Amino acid sequence: MSKAKNISDVAIIGAGPTGLFAIFECGMMGLSVQVIDSLPEIGGQCTALYPDKPIYDIPAYPEIPAAQLIENLEKQAAPFKPKYHLNQQVISIKQQSGYWHLKTSHDQEIQSKCIIIAAGPGAFGPNRPPLEGIEAYENQSIFYMVRDPNSFKDKNILIAGGGDSAVDWAINLQPIAKSVRLLHRRDKFRAMPENVQKIYEIHEKKQIEILTPYQLHALNGQDGQLESVEIKNKEGQIETVNVDVLLPFYGLSNDLGPILEWGLNIDKNHITVDPVTARTNIDKIYAIGDIAAYTNKKKLIVTGFSEGAFAAYDIRRTLYPDEAEHFEYSTSKGLPS
Ligand code: FAD
Repeated sequence: MSKAKNISDVAIIGAGPTGLFAIFECGMMGLSVQVIDSLPEIGGQCTALYPDKPIYDIPAYPEIPAAQLIENLEKQAAPFKPKYHLNQQVISIKQQSGYWHLKTSHDQEIQSKCIIIAAGPGAFGPNRPPLEGIEAYENQSIFYMVRDPNSFKDKNILIAGGGDSAVDWAINLQPIAKSVRLLHRRDKFRAMPENVQKIYEIHEKKQIEILTPYQLHALNGQDGQLESVEIKNKEGQIETVNVDVLLPFYGLSNDLGPILEWGLNIDKNHITVDPVTARTNIDKIYAIGDIAAYTNKKKLIVTGFSEGAFAAYDIRRTLYPDEAEHFEYSTSKGLPS
């Protein structure tokens, strides 16, 4: 892969379990890979929707938490040195001089000979609270996901939301942060009952402040650093709380949007593919995982893994048509050192 420019044999759109395993399969075929995901973290649905849930139908793992599966897939892909472009959605693609040019929402251009679309139900993104100027603070003092809890050590944190993420993180960050406030627009939280009970116990001990029913109203700060947040109660009165970090947890939405406009054969929001090659109707574009459709398709992680292998073999054949196909087991081939 060219280091100066973002050029590779394959660009994978989507870093869910399917996209991650496709890195490995492409790597075994000697293909360089870049991966783009709209989320700040890899893992797709596993990370965004159910990281702590055990999965029981991954071969050779009688039980594995979704987050652990993603960690393992990342490790398995690492020898092939994939380049990750996270936190950005692929918004357009065009073909020019033998390469696909992918443009992202960060105005980055990524070039590749082939594309594998592993986009699940579409690009995940946070539901943003409608606050003026919020973009200026994002990823500096406003975060929609927690990657490293220790980065919030000694910070004054305001968590907004009433579901599992809001309540879980309020509980988990309380021992690390300087102060934690939990704000929700309703009186009752809709998180797991045990955690709701726990949050009230912590509140009783005055280790956390609960602000209900309140809504976020405005942000104050400069150069991306929050200084305070204005909040509004049911009567419409505004209060100001001093805050270093705001964590709005209002859920995720998914957007298939741009992919629908790329001229692919689409059937009920899925891309129609040939099941034995994962080819779409467009030359050098493949689709795998939840987004790919064919007769009797099952949306399972294990199915997506297999589709990634089909795509990688077909890409190798397509890019190097004069080479004799030389099938090798990983046991004999080994990994790059
Ligand atoms: P996803 O995991 O959906 O990942 C797609 C990624 O692509 C996302 O991160 C998205 O942000 C990104 N993306 C999309 N469009 C773009 C774009 N334009 N630009 C940049 N990025 C983009 N399956 C099982 O096999 N066993 C189970 O036990 C199981 N349990 C489940 C439990 C729950 C609660 C849920 C919700 C699902 C479960 N599944 C299970 C289903 C499984 O999670 C999916 O089949 C799997 O995640 C599909 O993987 P994927 O890589 O195809 O897509």
